Amino acid sequence: MKAAPHKAESLKTAHNLISKHNCGKVQYTSDLSTYRKRAKAKFAQNTLMRVMAKLNSPLAAKYEETQFCSYSLIQNGNTFTARYCKQRWCRICNRIRTGKLMNGYSDAIQAMAEPQFVTLTIPNVPGDKLRESIKLMLNNFRKIQDLRRKNKQPLIKAIRKLECTYNPDRNDFHPHVHLIVEDLQQAEELKLAWMERNPEALEYLQDIRPAKEPIELFKYFAKLTSKGSKDIKTYKGKKLISREEYHYPEALDLIFQAIAGMRIIQTMGGVKMVSDEIEEIESVEIENVESDQALWQWQKIGTTAEKYTYDWVNIFTGECLTGYEPSEKEWKYSKRIRYLQV
Ligand SMILES: [Zn+2]
Repeated sequence: MKAAPHKAESLKTAHNLISKHNCGKVQYTSDLSTYRKRAKAKFAQNTLMRVMAKLNSPLAAKYEETQFCSYSLIQNGNTFTARYCKQRWCRICNRIRTGKLMNGYSDAIQAMAEPQFVTLTIPNVPGDKLRESIKLMLNNFRKIQDLRRKNKQPLIKAIRKLECTYNPDRNDFHPHVHLIVEDLQQAEELKLAWMERNPEALEYLQDIRPAKEPIELFKYFAKLTSKGSKDIKTYKGKKLISREEYHYPEALDLIFQAIAGMRIIQTMGGVKMVSDEIEEIESVEIENVESDQALWQWQKIGTTAEKYTYDWVNIFTGECLTGYEPSEKEWKYSKRIRYLQV
């Protein structure tokens, strides 16, 4: 572990924090690589969350909470305790949720006859129509099942995830739903019923394919970057289309406002619902660290604008916990932010 340049000085109060009282029951055992991956997730959203917390949005205070997600780690022996923001845009919290969902749904997916990965969409909508469009979409699933129930057809058995992406070229939004459906027949019937209720949806965008890695469904809730086709660079007289993706904070904010209070993952046709609720305070036993009583704080390390990283720094000794250093790609990713030109 390398030393951070600045060591904290007045530490008496910090010592009072490190007591059994502040460390909950150990929920699981892990090793330092868990925190290294979290450092990467936290670094990736650092800049974006700082920007979003300053937006004129009803969610601004919640974006600020995400800035402080697992900001301090209390170490008591080998147990590390952190507080999580539990917000749905938080990469750290989503890593924990994804793990829970993958474990929780694996039996249900394995029990499916021939699971199909289905994508259903509606035409893109402007920001001010997003919430009602999503409500309408979700309502349609209810109606499709109700009709099947009435007609004594077997209910569509599926796990469903809501997603929404932003199109920066058109400045509009693309709400869609991914599902893992029981078998091909149900998938095709569902697609047909969807087209009947959404005749303006383009047929070729309604996709059915065998679910090779059904677990992918749980990977992320809302993509935090968007790709536009306008990024054209000229290199040696040739036009090159840049494939870089950018964060659009205002658009993301609109998406999160639109889905406030809605369930992202839903089950259909009797698949048992799995909770993705995470504990606000989590205590983890870390195997490969020296037992100690310490307080670690998320801090900037390095002094130049071009060369710095973040890590949890031991406020007593100045040690860094994970040694995480962003790759060039990770560094650029965290900085790629664009504002909407209104
Ligand atoms: Zn969080």
